[in-house]
Amino acid sequence: MAFEGLTERLQKAMRNLRGKGKVSEADLRETMREIRLALLEADVNFTVVRNFVKRVQERSRGAEVLEGLNPAQQIVKIVNEELTKTMGEEAVPLNKSDKIPTVIMMAGLQGAGKTTTVGKLALKLQKEENARPLLIAADVYRPAAIDQLETVGKQINVPVFQQGTDVNPVEIVKNGMAKAQEEHNDYVLIDTAGRLQIDEKLMDELKEIKALTNPDEILLVVDAMTGQNAVNTAEGFNEALDITGVVLTKLDGDTRGGAALSIREVTQKPIKFIGQGEKMEALDVFHPDRMASRILG
Ligand code: GDP
Repeated sequence: MAFEGLTERLQKAMRNLRGKGKVSEADLRETMREIRLALLEADVNFTVVRNFVKRVQERSRGAEVLEGLNPAQQIVKIVNEELTKTMGEEAVPLNKSDKIPTVIMMAGLQGAGKTTTVGKLALKLQKEENARPLLIAADVYRPAAIDQLETVGKQINVPVFQQGTDVNPVEIVKNGMAKAQEEHNDYVLIDTAGRLQIDEKLMDELKEIKALTNPDEILLVVDAMTGQNAVNTAEGFNEALDITGVVLTKLDGDTRGGAALSIREVTQKPIKFIGQGEKMEALDVFHPDRMASRILG
């Protein structure tokens, strides 16, 4: 289960304060130490941990907690609020263009869940807004990727524009955009190529697609299971592309929590959606407060 270890350790850290009418400096220090270790063990970015603990500590030192009636409860509340803040406070909606089509460019490393997420997002738009999206298959380096997108398209009944693997991806995107104009699609979702790791050639290609389409959203898809690597990936893509948001996938797995808790603060870009399963329906808007409560258990 996601966050299992983190939830357990945070609860334990705060349990020690339960039943105390008054919390001493030493009690508080010990609790902060345990919270810090719990976060580090969950693979949360070091600076994020440091900032987080500092904020919780400062607020907890306030008279309200040390002299309050139920210090444990108050600290839980503070931790909850600060976790929420670390993850961005509020849900951030999808950027939309005032004229059709809204262009959403999806990027990410191979295996992160990019193609699946393109399908999930298209289905969501179709269901919630009655939208008519067009999917563009621009991952020409992995032949299976195009077939996979076609399969996804059929599954959700959304058209896929593709030109096989012999055409330059930038050209494909250009032709796909023309097709969307012709068909009056209100959304275009571009499935771009992924690699095993960030390389310059890939970034150049993505920059070209960005320059060509001027996307309303550049969503980076990252795998929550990869913890700090997901954070580093997000930093790398953000530097090259100035992404507009992140989709965090595989939160149905037993991820430790590092990616969810670090990405926002490290990249200053919002997590917009979370993937919670392989099914096309398994995409949800990311709500920092709900995630904080889930982490605290
Ligand atoms: P891409 O290479 O980035 O396009 O990745 P894919 O879309 O092909 O996904 C890689 C694998 O991850 C596939 O087996 C997907 O079914 C799976 N996957 C994607 N998103 C999720 C998710 O949110 N949860 C789970 N459990 N699996 C996912």
